[in-house]
Amino acid sequence: MLRQYELVDRVLGYDPKADEALINRAYVYAMKQHGSQKRASGDPYFSHPIEVAGILTDLKLDTATIVTALLHDTIEDTGSTMDELTKLFGSQVAGLVDGVTKLTRIELTSERSKQAENFRKFLLAMSNDIRVLLVKLADRLHNMRTLHFISSAEKRQRIALETMEIYAPLAGRMGIQEIREELEDLAFKELNPEAREALIKRLNEFREASGDSVKKIAKEIQAKLEETGLSCEVLGREKRPYSMWRKMERRAISLEQLSDIFGFRVIVDDVPDCYTAVGVLHTNWRMVPGRFKDYISTPKANGYRSIHTTMIGPEKKRAEVQVRTRKMHEIAEYGIAAHWIYKEGPGADASGEFAATFHWLRQLIEMLEHGASPEEFLEHTKLQMYSDQVFCFSPKGLLITLPRGATPIDFAYAVHTDIGDTCVGCKINGRHMPLRTKLENGDEVEIIRSQAQRPSPAWEAFVATGKARSAIRRSIRATKQAEFSRLGRQILKGAFEAAGKDGSDTILERALGPLRKSDLDELMAAVGDGTLSAHQVLQTVYPAEQPKNGRKRPVRGNGKDGNDSAVRVTGRAAGLVISFAPEMFPLPGERIVGIMMPGEGITIYPIDAPALEEFDGETMRWIDATWDIDPEHPQTFPARLRVTAKNEVGSLGHIATLIADYGSNISNLSLAQRDMDFYDIQIDLDVRDLKHLTRIMSALNGLSCVNTVIRPRR
Ligand code: MN
Repeated sequence: MLRQYELVDRVLGYDPKADEALINRAYVYAMKQHGSQKRASGDPYFSHPIEVAGILTDLKLDTATIVTALLHDTIEDTGSTMDELTKLFGSQVAGLVDGVTKLTRIELTSERSKQAENFRKFLLAMSNDIRVLLVKLADRLHNMRTLHFISSAEKRQRIALETMEIYAPLAGRMGIQEIREELEDLAFKELNPEAREALIKRLNEFREASGDSVKKIAKEIQAKLEETGLSCEVLGREKRPYSMWRKMERRAISLEQLSDIFGFRVIVDDVPDCYTAVGVLHTNWRMVPGRFKDYISTPKANGYRSIHTTMIGPEKKRAEVQVRTRKMHEIAEYGIAAHWIYKEGPGADASGEFAATFHWLRQLIEMLEHGASPEEFLEHTKLQMYSDQVFCFSPKGLLITLPRGATPIDFAYAVHTDIGDTCVGCKINGRHMPLRTKLENGDEVEIIRSQAQRPSPAWEAFVATGKARSAIRRSIRATKQAEFSRLGRQILKGAFEAAGKDGSDTILERALGPLRKSDLDELMAAVGDGTLSAHQVLQTVYPAEQPKNGRKRPVRGNGKDGNDSAVRVTGRAAGLVISFAPEMFPLPGERIVGIMMPGEGITIYPIDAPALEEFDGETMRWIDATWDIDPEHPQTFPARLRVTAKNEVGSLGHIATLIADYGSNISNLSLAQRDMDFYDIQIDLDVRDLKHLTRIMSALNGLSCVNTVIRPRR
């Protein structure tokens, strides 16, 4: 425990004008008030406020904050009153203690709504004085350091979880990385001790194998920089287990693959020296492309500034290096508290930099004033602290700001519409990842493109930005329009040939005026999407032409006769305007026909499907269709069989094995008992074509356990 004179000396060490007498009074008062109270550790209770004050001296905070730390539990845990504190220590300190007390009460109630209510009051109270929050964070840190003394596992878990969800991110948002990392690590120890132990063990082995290279590398870097006349300090450090764990989880990589277990900090005098130092580093060691980030010209939202780079450093080891000035270093370590030091006290918090840092807090307060429910508030608070934006980088280091929840598709469209439109895949931090992955702060995103790609309608479901959504819609509309137009051209060609008439473009242009179409593309698209029939066009150009009554169903589309006016079906995903009739399972090798669905395009049916009777009276909607499957790229198509099998042991197994032996995959199976002796199975399977299915059907028929095999028709 910190002694009275040690505490005072520490404060005087960074603030010679500190009110020594006030600190002494508060120290003695806290000891007296807490008296013989004990902590769970068995230590006298007053050791706690003194340790909290000690933590705050590391942040070099002013007398009022240190005194508040000493007194922070007196209202809640002893007989002290606001009046008494005001009389003894002044209204400023009393107000600060009151603020801390309000937050402390949150921890004492288990009801979430009550928590939120108190938290609300607290935030309102401290919004005028950030020092309350700093005391609270230090209080939480000391409580976390002594968490293992609490006997109730449930209570430990609750406190650890709250720390992970609220206090650690809060410290991060305030830029106090030291405290954030320690809070996270202490919470991690409680929440996932096995993972932490395993990580530490692996880390020790790793360290033993690589020797004490951190010191050696730091020395070599420092020597190179000093050769050029720079005065600098180089610090080497190892990441905390939790931050490594998070990285490993996020990127799904092993400890060995984690490039930045060891980090180095180069601290120089001023900003020009930062850039000089980076230049020297990159001259001597090869930089790792895409890892260079300049947070000096583009500071992070919490005010963090530094240049980051990764290089293949001394001893051929990847080294992550942060280059910064002394002031930037202090801000990175102490965050808001450092602003405090540089701005010299209260009243300075209206200045730009400081105000920007607190933008999120102001938003929170505003939301509170507009009456969110306590429950909702707590949710939002968590969200708010995790930030509502993500900052990502292109491999060239371009900074892209996106709303939280954004995906690589959003990223691609944010860079350029053309990049979004041709996006086929992505790498996040060097790893191939699905396009639906939600991006996180600091992710480096590389978009893989192909000029043959068009935006997929499926993208719309997971993009987060309006820009991406509208670009996807626009592109799909354009693609559909082009497909409709191509389809319309085929249909018109077939219709004019059948009538023995000239259907060249110059002839067709005559129909534009009467049919009120502005160009041929529009005319074709209208025919393609079924809003205009080919016969209407024919009659417009050749008014004498009468509709042929009793036109027969098209019969050609058998995929063999090369009928080039027929619509070509190239596969299961034959485009946006051609679809397969549900549960009809047409297969290559069998005759198919298209039915025009106005506004939607063409639906493909097997030509013997009974369901086609519905369209018997509408011969104009019938479209010749033919398979056009590239034999170099065989595809599979869904098919359905109904099998009646003998009810005996192993029969289903025989059937499934046989289907697998024929290289087909069963995608669905349903069973219906028929009677004691037989049962019906409906099997959905994937086959290459009709021949493939027929072979499977005859083989099934050959099984002794199979009675009948049919392809059900609708
Ligand atoms: Mn406390």
